[in-house]
Formats: sequence, structure tokens, C-alpha cells
Amino acid sequence: MGVFFRAIPAVDRILNALEAEAALADAPRALVREAVGRFLDLVREEIRQGAVVSPADLALERLLARVRAFVIQAVRPKLRRVVNATGVVVHTNLGRSVLAAEAVQAVVQAAQAYSNLEFDLATGQRGSRYVHVEELLCRLTGAEAAMVVNNNAAAVLLVLDTLAKGREVIVSRGQLVEIGGSFRIPEVMKKSGAILREVGATNRTHVRDYVEAIGPDTAAIMKVHTSNYRMLGFVKEVPAEELVALGHAHGLPVVEDLGSGNLMDFSAIGLGQEPTARQVVAAGVDVVTMSGDKLLGGPQAGIIVGRAAVVERLRKNQLTRALRIDKLTLAALEGTLRLYLDPEKAKARIPTVARILMDPETLRRQATRLARRLRQRLGARAQVTVAPSVSRVGGGAFPEQDLPTFVVRVLPAKLRADAVRQRLLGLDVPVVVRVEEDAVVLDPRTLLAGDERCVEQAIASVLGAESSQE
Ligand SMILES: *Cc1c(COP(=O)(O)O)cnc(C)c1O
Repeated sequence: MGVFFRAIPAVDRILNALEAEAALADAPRALVREAVGRFLDLVREEIRQGAVVSPADLALERLLARVRAFVIQAVRPKLRRVVNATGVVVHTNLGRSVLAAEAVQAVVQAAQAYSNLEFDLATGQRGSRYVHVEELLCRLTGAEAAMVVNNNAAAVLLVLDTLAKGREVIVSRGQLVEIGGSFRIPEVMKKSGAILREVGATNRTHVRDYVEAIGPDTAAIMKVHTSNYRMLGFVKEVPAEELVALGHAHGLPVVEDLGSGNLMDFSAIGLGQEPTARQVVAAGVDVVTMSGDKLLGGPQAGIIVGRAAVVERLRKNQLTRALRIDKLTLAALEGTLRLYLDPEKAKARIPTVARILMDPETLRRQATRLARRLRQRLGARAQVTVAPSVSRVGGGAFPEQDLPTFVVRVLPAKLRADAVRQRLLGLDVPVVVRVEEDAVVLDPRTLLAGDERCVEQAIASVLGAESSQE
């Protein structure tokens, strides 16, 4: 066995051979060296197990392709681009919203130069980081004042901590929701120090339930958008207007966690139940919180709009400092919100909005084109068909609503669809797909510019049809 071990190339020889490798040009040297070491550990293990037939197989030239692939894989950045072929537009696991080009441009500019982040150019004095988006948010929602924090969970925490620490907040039992990723209203409430006062039954809550709960310890009435689920049948929620009338009659602020911040009216495509932020503000709700990266299509952020006096109190809370939004996010948010000033532009330029609004006919054409190309590439390796199906908005918006789409179904002749799905995740640019009835399902709705070719190439390589027929 010694002759095998002695045949293993030295680490430095391998490093020399990888010197000219373009894919490793930017990789930290220490990581490359460590990866080569780990590769050689693997080779030693193979020798011990008798898997290496001849010492000649350990010559540098023979090992080079493998070690190269191993090292490139080992040292690449951990946060990577993936292709989303799932049809879930706001996919929390895949980074929710893709930014509009205008927002990306704003981020780049804020990132590579100094800015007036907290500097008032009119006075030359210290300024506030919130002013850059406040006017836009007020314009777009009709609110008196606005501010932004790290995310919507932080926004809810800040609102409760500011308005209700040590006192009671009345919430309907039907709205004590858990949102994916462990955001639970009762738990957030506990963290904030506010005391949850549940009212009503799971399916029905009446104004009188709220009335009976109001007492000397009451600090606020809260309404929570149930986001990722819907109750059907014998159900009743009290509309925001009635809660506002009740709250204000008792001198109590009414707050609403809107979840998926919505600045756009989607009723034209039948997505009507989701209230826009403007509607909630118009109903008289004192503070509204929502996410920046769900339906709104911007960066991760928690947007708070409402009455000036309340927002002023939020800003003064020390917690705000810990939850504060960073400059890159702020730049992306301003870039996104500016597009909303012209709704047609928002529809065309904000990827999340544009993808929700995509019409089935366009999707059918795209699916048909992709299917044709896949058939050419795959031949007998798979059966490829186009079928009507549904996409999802995701991010807890419009949970019960299907977006009609057309998908490409790839039924592999030899492999299980699950195995194909797994291999697609192992590619340089991983492709995330759905699997249904043992077919790989590709929804064009969430494919970005250039992704179609990428998917085609990915499927072809996984199903062993590497060589292009063009
Ligand atoms: C998504 C959601 C949240 C959490 O928002 P993040 O921006 O993910 O922190 C809170 N409340 C509701 C109702 C939601 O839908």
C-alpha cells in the first residue's frame, strides 16, 4: 500500500497546477490549500479501501480534473444564485423578491460611495435616515408619517413595545397566527412585554367581544392579517373601520399587521381580498406594519406607516436603534418605491409585481418554447409535455388563490424525478423545481431573463444529454 501512498502528488504540485485556473483566480489561497488537503484525505481513504487499482492512477495528470472540480466546489461562496422554477413568486427560502433594476442601481451607488444617509444637505447638520423614504411612503399610502426598520417582525415588535409594554393588547383568536420562519404573534407579543388579551372564538369574533375586553389595562387593539391561511365557512372578523371607531371612542390606538405590504391593487386579475396599505390607512388605523420584500417587491424591510404622533414615539424608542435599517436596504427601498409613483412602471419594472401579473397566454408560449427545446435535447431520455397548472404568490399573500399558469412536465425515462430534483440542486447554478406525480415540473412564471437556457442546459446535463443539438 506504501507504493500507493508515495504516488500521491504533493500539495504544492497540485496548487501549482491549479495556479492558472480562472475559476479559482479570486479564491482565498488558504481555502484552496485546505480544500486540496481534504481532497487528498479522500484519496488516502480510497487507497485504504482498495478502490485505487494502480499507482499510475494517482499521477497528477489523472487526478487533476477531479481535484479541480472538488476545489472549485469547496471554495465557492456559500450564498449563491439559484434558478427558481417553482412558480412561487415570493419564495421565502429563495430570497423572496428580486429587485427591480432601478433598485439594484440605487444599492450599487449607496454601496460604493459616501451618501447623505444621516446628513441634511440643506443645513449641513445631522439628518435622519428615515426621511429618504418617508415622503414616498406617505404619498403611496396616504399616511401622515412613516419609518422603516429591519423587517416586519421588528416593526411589530417595535410597535407593541412602544405602545403596550406591560399592558394589554386585544387580538381576535382567529388572528393569532404563525407565519413561516417562526414568527408567532403571541410570542412576539411576549417578547415586547405586551400582554395578549385574546377575544372571540377561532372562527368568529364580534365587536362585543372587543368591547367586553376593554379595561383600564388596555393599551391597544390589534388586527393581524392572517397571511398564509384562510378560514372559510362560518366565520366573522370585525372590519378595521369598526375597530377604529371602537378604539377611538375609548382613546385606544388601533394597529394592524398587514403582513404582505401591498401598494398595488391586484383586483384586475381577481386577487381582490388583499387590502392595500392605502385602504387600511384610510380606514383610520393608527399604525400599519408590513414587509418590504413580499408583495411590495423590494428589499427585506419592515415598513411602518401611520399617525405622526405615534411614529414619533416609535422613533424615540431605544429599540429602534437596534432594529434600524441599513443604507443598502434603504437605497433599494427608495428605488422600488419610486417606481410605484407610476403604477404602470411598477407593473412593468418590479419583478415580483410583473410576475404576479403575467398572463397565462404568455406563460403558455414560454412553456411551449422550453418544452420544444427540451424535447430536441432529450430525445428518448424523457417525455416532455406542457400542461395547465397553478403558480403561487407566496410570502403569505393570497394563500387560497391560484395563479393560472402553464408548466413543462419532464417525465424521465430512467431516473426518478426526485433524483433529478436532487441533482439539479448540485449544479453550479442550482435549479429549484417542483416534483409532481414523479415528473419534474418547471413553471416559467419565476424564470428570469436568461434562466430558460440555464434550465434547458441543467436538465440536459442531469439526464445525460450534454451535447447540444443546435
Ligand atoms: C410575513 C409576515 C410577518 C413577518 O414579516 P417579515 O418581513 O418576514 O419579518 C409578520 N406578520 C405577517 C402577518 C406576515 O405575513
